[in-house]
Amino acid sequence: MSGRRRFLATTLSAWAIAPVTSGSAQTGVPSGSLTKEQRDRMTPGEVLDALRQGNERFRTGKMVSRDYRDQQRSSAAGQFPSAVVLGCIDSRAPAEIIFDAGIGDTFNARIAGNVVNDDLLGSLEFACAVAGAKVLLLFGHTACGAIKGAIDDVEMGNLTGLLARVKPAMTATTFDGAKTSKNAAYVDAVARTNVLLGVDNIRRRSPILADLEKKKSIQIVGGMYDLVTGIVEFLPQG
Ligand SMILES: [Zn+2]
Repeated sequence: MSGRRRFLATTLSAWAIAPVTSGSAQTGVPSGSLTKEQRDRMTPGEVLDALRQGNERFRTGKMVSRDYRDQQRSSAAGQFPSAVVLGCIDSRAPAEIIFDAGIGDTFNARIAGNVVNDDLLGSLEFACAVAGAKVLLLFGHTACGAIKGAIDDVEMGNLTGLLARVKPAMTATTFDGAKTSKNAAYVDAVARTNVLLGVDNIRRRSPILADLEKKKSIQIVGGMYDLVTGIVEFLPQG
């Protein structure tokens, strides 16, 4: 193929893809930050669908093109996020990217091993009860270092106390096979239990959030992110 023909072919295929990836009209996803009206119109089920679709766009390479500077300016006067996400600090699991969300779309809480503590519960209560988020997603991920650390009984400074919060998930995981940090299947099984226990913890320890869920004002959901496939699997409600 000549240079010019190659250029044309590239340009044309870029055109073919562009309308799918960049416009709000084509994807139904606003390229600006969520407005109060847009957020308030959504049901918790629709917010969850939006997260699902965002992850689908991410893993299929069809992310919405956003002008972050524009979003930064337009959201400066107020924020109306539709969801709050609690995930691990792992550098490979950045919520805004894997859910294809922009500035102002989601509250994002991160802590190693996505464990729940009192201060995080306070943050989640703020996000839902004060600021109006409609979905609370707690997600873990495969090959999590914090889970491996808990399995290996790592003790180091303040990390010891944090990893102690993961240990109940080890006890609660039924698993046939080697229960070591070298066994990826075991590590992921514990991570999954850790998410389910975390969701349970939130409901038990936060009457405010449990009540919002009972009234169907919010949905509390667990998820697992697969580092290899890029897929977030939403876990069945316990
Ligand atoms: Zn992790």
